[in-house]
Amino acid sequence: MKKKKLSILGSTGSIGVSTLQVVERYPERFKILGLTAGQNRVLLEEQIERFKPDVVSLSDEGAAGELKKKRSGLDILSGVEGLIGVATIPEVDMVVSALVGAVGLVPTMSAIRAGKDIALANKETLVMAGDIVMKEAYERGIKILPIDSEHSAIFQCIQGHRHEDIKKLILTASGGPFLNLSTAMLKKVTPQEALKHPNWKMGPKITIDSATLMNKGLEVIEAHYLFGIDVDRINILLHPQSLIHSAVEFKDGSIIAQMSLPDMKGPISYALSYPERLESDMPSLDLAAAGSLTFIEPDPERFPCLILAYAAIREGGTLPAVLSAANEVAVELFLENRIEFIDIPAIIKETMDDHKSSGVYRHRPELDDILDADRWARDEVLKKVQSLKLKIK
Ligand code: NAD
Ligand code: MG
Repeated sequence: MKKKKLSILGSTGSIGVSTLQVVERYPERFKILGLTAGQNRVLLEEQIERFKPDVVSLSDEGAAGELKKKRSGLDILSGVEGLIGVATIPEVDMVVSALVGAVGLVPTMSAIRAGKDIALANKETLVMAGDIVMKEAYERGIKILPIDSEHSAIFQCIQGHRHEDIKKLILTASGGPFLNLSTAMLKKVTPQEALKHPNWKMGPKITIDSATLMNKGLEVIEAHYLFGIDVDRINILLHPQSLIHSAVEFKDGSIIAQMSLPDMKGPISYALSYPERLESDMPSLDLAAAGSLTFIEPDPERFPCLILAYAAIREGGTLPAVLSAANEVAVELFLENRIEFIDIPAIIKETMDDHKSSGVYRHRPELDDILDADRWARDEVLKKVQSLKLKIK
């Protein structure tokens, strides 16, 4: 069997590590050519030892320099150039896009332009630039295979069905740790409490996004671009057991849902091996033991990030990129204890409100316009937080 040659952007993160676990189980199928890490040089070194890539990259030039002293035979890059280098290694067949946040956009675009199939975890890429990404992938015949569990579920549910037969997409959400808290109680939650997700173990940014439900808002936008369905036909349903990962309703009234234990190795395996399925080492999902499955409508009053995400994609242009960037900075400020949990949607809303009159707004943006809007939103959030005299240090 010809091995599929992979690069993993963000190999030291939660998705990156799970991807390497899948690769390790199937050495006859996959070969790692490129890996990248942010700050975690120690873990990257362990991964180099185990997977013997040709090229690696670290965020920091100094850290890359240190590594070069130890590993003379290895091509070691750094910074955004390094991410692009690993994303475009000539022999690579598929790039696993598992960076977190806006930093994923440019290397993922570079991989598409270099003709690589994409296993996509970095949802921010599609939120920021979905039109451009999907158009360029389509023109080059590139496959974008979803890793996000809801999108993997939908992708599995639509296999063998006609696009025109889809009535709506139903994205399920666990609801995060604060599903049942009142607005008054949400005012008091701490980063430590928000970091405790009931069902999934993930990186810090997406864990906070799950607590605010912004993650689901970003996923509505992601689903819109991946599956070409208008957001008015994408619904969110809270499902605290996280066993149904999403569902599709067809025009004849049938709903097809995908179920499995909540483990990202499932959707990662499907993205890496599509259209084949790999044997899993997970136990079977015991439906009798699972008992009842429950579903609840989300409450946008308590979780306004949902309203903001729908508003951003309905308006379009550079607004979704601003939503994503403002959210990214607000989440960082919350994790650093500099703003409150409920400040996150308030700050994003103000930034979005100001964007249209900012001079940076573009209705049909090019990639550079999107990157400008991203920078504008980051500066704007910091200015706002300072002028609001919130707890910024
Ligand atoms: P994470 O924080 O665990 O890992 C992020 C990776 O990106 C790490 O390798 C980190 O070193 C690297 N990185 C971060 N900033 C960087 C920078 N400036 N330069 C270079 N490298 C940088 O994140 P994660 O939970 O693995 O999530 C990755 C993406 O997958 C996100 O977009 C998230 O929304 C999506 N996703 C994650 C999960 C999950 O279960 N973790 C599920 C669905 C979707
Ligand atoms: Mg998801």
